Amino acid sequence: MGAELIRGIDKSSGKVKHIDEVPNGLKCNCKCPDENCLEDLIAVNGGERREHHFRHSVDTNCLGEQESALHLMAKQIIAESNELLIQVKEYFSYSKSIIEKPLEGVIVDVQIENQDEVIWLVEIAVTHFVDNEKLEKLQRLNLNVLEIDLKDIDRRIKTEKLKDVVLINLNNREILLRESSDKVVSNENESIFSWTIGLLLMIWGGCKALKAYKAGKINRKYGIKPRRRSKHSRRPNR
Ligand SMILES: [Zn+2]
Repeated sequence: MGAELIRGIDKSSGKVKHIDEVPNGLKCNCKCPDENCLEDLIAVNGGERREHHFRHSVDTNCLGEQESALHLMAKQIIAESNELLIQVKEYFSYSKSIIEKPLEGVIVDVQIENQDEVIWLVEIAVTHFVDNEKLEKLQRLNLNVLEIDLKDIDRRIKTEKLKDVVLINLNNREILLRESSDKVVSNENESIFSWTIGLLLMIWGGCKALKAYKAGKINRKYGIKPRRRSKHSRRPNR
């Protein structure tokens, strides 16, 4: 039962459809989500006896790539939304989205961007989590990266429920990288550096002023001394 095909690709829109969102039979207008297959599907969603599913319109051994269809649907949900929960009390509102964005030699599941050009890269884990190699590549971009874990999700989950899981569920997401943290650190370093230079200049200036002041005071106090000395020193010469 688990291997049954629950999602197909709508042939008109190219979007993933859950079995309960399409008309029965060939009217579903769907094809297999497996890129090596892409055969027409027949929706079997009329009865109550059997769990609703798609079947191929031709004889085939294809199982229909359930995982990639779920993965694609999750990406579509983010691309079609305009707000995503990042962490507790932090939502990101965005106006632009790109599915499967190539960056730094990797393909990012979804890139979302707001009016201020703040970017979040969203990775959706259905079978694979972001590995160290990918993370290192993403690190070079200094962008925000969020990972959403759909690994243990019920593969039959309906679209409306999947939307909640992808967009607003608190327990399945993790911030892998934060853009601002790096920038804040470098800004802090910069300001500490200039503050230290400023302080050193002040101390140096202060010392110089104090020296000049002391010298002036000595000269005033023993003003005669240097003259006497010079007279003394001249006398033996004469
Ligand atoms: Zn197929």
